[in-house]
Amino acid sequence: MKNYIDGEWTGSSTGEVLEKKNPSTGESVGNFPSASREDVNRAIDAAETAFERWNSLGSRERSRIIVRTADLVREKRNELENILILENGKVPVQAGEEVDGVLDQLLYYAGFERKITGEVVEGDSPKRMILQYRTPYGVVAALTPWNFPAAMVARKLAPALLTGNTVVLKPSSDTPMSAEWIVRKFLEAGVPRGVVNFVTGKGSEIGDHLVSHRKVSLVTMTGSTGTGQRIMTKTAANMAKLVLELGGKAPFIVWDDADIVNSLKSLIWAKFWNGGQSCIAAERLYVQEKVYDRFVEKFVSATEKMRVGDPNTSDMGPLINRGAVEATEKFVNAASGSGMKILTGGKKPELKGKFSKGYFYLPTIIDHADQESPIFQEEIFGPVIGVQIVSTLDEALERANDSRYGLASYIFSKDNRVVFEAAEKLRFGEIYVNMPGPESSQGYHTGFRLTGQAGEGSKYGIEEYVKLKNVYLDYSGKPLHIGSVREDLF
Ligand code: NAP
Repeated sequence: MKNYIDGEWTGSSTGEVLEKKNPSTGESVGNFPSASREDVNRAIDAAETAFERWNSLGSRERSRIIVRTADLVREKRNELENILILENGKVPVQAGEEVDGVLDQLLYYAGFERKITGEVVEGDSPKRMILQYRTPYGVVAALTPWNFPAAMVARKLAPALLTGNTVVLKPSSDTPMSAEWIVRKFLEAGVPRGVVNFVTGKGSEIGDHLVSHRKVSLVTMTGSTGTGQRIMTKTAANMAKLVLELGGKAPFIVWDDADIVNSLKSLIWAKFWNGGQSCIAAERLYVQEKVYDRFVEKFVSATEKMRVGDPNTSDMGPLINRGAVEATEKFVNAASGSGMKILTGGKKPELKGKFSKGYFYLPTIIDHADQESPIFQEEIFGPVIGVQIVSTLDEALERANDSRYGLASYIFSKDNRVVFEAAEKLRFGEIYVNMPGPESSQGYHTGFRLTGQAGEGSKYGIEEYVKLKNVYLDYSGKPLHIGSVREDLF
């Protein structure tokens, strides 16, 4: 693997590398550069130099390049799917869904060509006007997570590039391969030198430097809340614009009149999709008391039938690394230590051969989970869910809102009163009613509280990448009378 800086594929200037492991087996799959600060500086300089030309190319031509990128991704989509299985441990159907997501993001944002508009506003006196138009920020630093390592790259690069910005992309150190693959497609499609730069290396070593560089005008990061908070402090000196898509702790409410099979299917998806490693993962289950026993029993039974192991033949693959398994174990052990009941799972699966060294954990359901416990308050980011019984809707909504995070939430009920009450009261950026996620390109993916700032997707998401500029015009041709400037001076 290589970095791409100022039109050249290159290693780190120090020659240092990091190792990438296959989470299904723990085996090494190769090395990638550990970029130095000097490499990051060169990438930012290249992006700055390329900005003016790229911006003046016009959105029509930029859109054509993005559409060509999508064509190239589609042609070789199997390659990207295989990388996602290898570097992330995705099961094939989910790897395929992620590539569909990449294509959808590219084409959706490409469709904004010539559609980023401004306004003409009346001036304070006749023959005066204000032109408000949108202009790109300049150099964008894009930092992506490992859980959707291809889709997140597309979701950041497509709107940034369509609107005329240039980019320095730093992917997660757990998943550099799919990001490199997509960057190569952008280049094959005709992205000029310097417009996209790609650096790999630990966020803790080069991340601060990248986001706090004075030439970086916008930082878009998807990742944990802790990293987002750190970025906020590091960007304060330059006042870079921030788009921060951070953690989640989604409540999943099942009401007494809900369609049980639809709710169950959606819950299995919302909890165990990508091994529970999704920002919109259901992490807290609230079930109305009349259906509690029946629903929980069916949920446990369906969960126990899930196959965990080799991603190519299972319903759920591994977690991303050893640390993720250890963190999950810690949550579960603390829960069972404090008297909560493990209904299923609660341990690693026993796998044979090379998969015995992979980072697997069984889907786990914990009953009688305490609202104040870490199981209900901290983002687990693994295949573990806590369950609580609720009797009134007010109680369910109050507990659902009792979270530091505010990204996704789910409610299942056929009663319009329940649904609209929930839609009004749930303090979350996304409320899925009688359906699973994930979010659509045309939806605005955003959250309350510690889930972050700004958002991605839809016209609102693309507007994050442009700044409103105001041009004040006088076309009267008349002499100016400026109250505080004496006429007899002239
Ligand atoms: P992370 O550890 O916060 O990392 C995110 C990115 O930031 C990575 O590229 C990481 O690089 C980089 N980074 C780390 N420290 C940095 C620093 N000091 N300065 C600048 N960049 C730094 O998150 P993750 O573990 O990859 O992803 C999981 C998290 O993402 C979860 O909390 C999940 O909820 C969240 N997520 C949110 C959304 C959403 O749309 N809201 C979507 C997906 C995921 P390294 O890998 O090299 O450390």
